[in-house]
Amino acid sequence: MPHTVRAVVARAKGEPVSIEAIEVPDPGPGEVLVAVQACGVCHTDLHYREGAINDDFPFLLGHEASGIIEEVGEGVTNVAPGDFVILNWRAVCGSCRACRRGRPWYCFDTLNAAQKMTLDGVELSPALGIGAFAEKTLVAAGQATKVDPTASPEAAGLVGCGVMAGLGAAMNTGGVGRGDSVAVFGCGGVGNAAIAGARLAGAHTIIGIDIDAGKLDLAREFGATHTIDSSS
Ligand SMILES: [Zn+2]
Ligand SMILES: [Zn+2]
Repeated sequence: MPHTVRAVVARAKGEPVSIEAIEVPDPGPGEVLVAVQACGVCHTDLHYREGAINDDFPFLLGHEASGIIEEVGEGVTNVAPGDFVILNWRAVCGSCRACRRGRPWYCFDTLNAAQKMTLDGVELSPALGIGAFAEKTLVAAGQATKVDPTASPEAAGLVGCGVMAGLGAAMNTGGVGRGDSVAVFGCGGVGNAAIAGARLAGAHTIIGIDIDAGKLDLAREFGATHTIDSSS
C-alpha cells in the first residue's frame, strides 16, 4: 500500500514552497523506503525552486539526509529494516567498466528509484534523486549507506552533500597532502568541510577567507590556521 506523508514541494518556478500530502509507493525490486530523520537545507534546493537546475516541476525538495530503513524491496541485500543510513544522490551499477576498475564515481549507469512518488497523481521530481524534505522517501537501495547508529541524525545527514563536497574537494580533487598550504574562499558548509578535509590531510597552513566574521570563527574551529575578513 502506498504511504501518504507530508513533504515540501516546489510546484512552480520562483513560487513559495508548500507542505503537501504526497504518495510514496512501497519499495519495488532494488528499492528501499526510508523514514527520514533529518535533512539539511542546501542552496541547491533553492536552485531547484528557482528553476535553475531544470524545469521538471513539481520538485520534492531535500537531498542531505539521514534516516531509518523502513521497508526493502525484492533483492535488496545491502540494508535491512531498522538500519540507520545516509542517502546519496545516485546508486552505482557495480558492473560497468568504471565500476569494475574501482572508480564508481565515474559509473556509466547510475540509478535512482524506478517508481515515482506523486502529488495528486502527478509525478514528483525528487531533488538530486532523493527528495528528503518528507517524512518518508523512496530511493534505490544503493543510495542508502549504513552509518554508525549513535551518530546524531542532523550531523550524519550533512555527510550526504556539504561534507562530502568539501572534504572531497580537499582530499580527492585538490589532492591536499602533508605540509601543504591551502586557501579556502568562502567558509560556509562546504568551505568549512574543505578546511576540515585539509586539516585531516595534514595541511600545514590553512587560510579561510570570508566576508562574515561568524563564519571565520567556525573556520578556525574546523582547522583554519589563519583567517582573512575580505569585507574590510
Ligand atoms: Zn546539497
Ligand atoms: Zn557502474
